[in-house]
Amino acid sequence: MKCTVCRGPAVIDLRRHNANFCGDHFVKFCRDQVARAIHDHAMLRPGERVLVAVSGGKDSLALWDMLLETGYDVDGMTIGLGIGDYSSASTDAAVAFAESRGVHLQHVDLRRDYDYDIPTAAAATRRVPCSSCGLSKRHLIDKAALDGGYDVVATGHNLDDEAAVLLGNVLRWNTEYLGRQQPVLIERPGFPRKVKPLVRLGERETAAYCVLRGIDYIVEECPMAEGNRHLRYKDALTAIESESPGTKQAFYFGFLARASERFQGDVEAAQDDLKPCARCGSPTTGDVCAFCRLVEQASGRDPVPVELVRPGRGRR
Ligand code: SF4
Ligand code: ZN
Ligand code: ZN
Repeated sequence: MKCTVCRGPAVIDLRRHNANFCGDHFVKFCRDQVARAIHDHAMLRPGERVLVAVSGGKDSLALWDMLLETGYDVDGMTIGLGIGDYSSASTDAAVAFAESRGVHLQHVDLRRDYDYDIPTAAAATRRVPCSSCGLSKRHLIDKAALDGGYDVVATGHNLDDEAAVLLGNVLRWNTEYLGRQQPVLIERPGFPRKVKPLVRLGERETAAYCVLRGIDYIVEECPMAEGNRHLRYKDALTAIESESPGTKQAFYFGFLARASERFQGDVEAAQDDLKPCARCGSPTTGDVCAFCRLVEQASGRDPVPVELVRPGRGRR
């Protein structure tokens, strides 16, 4: 197998691009794909301050590395979710990366700063762990970006993630979510701009990028992810992609080009009645935002161990 660019020995084949790459040209390919996503979707402007949401996994660390290498002014933010060893290893990977590059990493810890963690929140709310986890992450990243004066939040969602979310939204015709499924969410009062520069890369590619760049990332999946629908959609699309390379890209980018605008009306309708939360000031439709209600419900309880929470379903 030879590199499509230099004819040297290739280390990876990309069937959807009908190309093979050596290490150097693969790293260049990944950075070019990120640069193209940033350009095509007007994600970042020169001189802007970027906050990357870092989980310690391959996607967020590859993204942070690529943005730094491209010359952007990027800090990281990581959230200690309190999901046992998984969370400690995630934080360790993020800290090790920040130290190796001499860059700033902001660390919020749910237990230390808000007196709850995700397993305890899942038990308290009797909802799937990913529900309180997603809510906590969104709120705290928005808050960190606004408080810290950042222009934009970048997240490590890749093509596999976006195609799987799209499939889930289409299967249930979640029209409001379909309207929001853009690689850029523009800033609004109380919300920073959010961008997904990895939408042109799959997770196999971000993993290979990390290996080639010597980035240590956490390989284990979150133990709470088991049984979650998103993973089932990902597996289904990966099975189709293996028979028909390019399907995920055609599905996601075809949606952006031909269908996403049709759902904008549903998004605007949902944004009409936002007002500041009585406790924290974040935009919300009620008097108190969902994050403040979660903190009220989950904080001050005895911690629930990870083993007692049934992934994807709530408490055992
Ligand atoms: Fe949070 Fe669910 Fe992701 Fe685990 S799988 S980190 S609980 S959103
Ligand atoms: Zn090459
Ligand atoms: Zn609030």
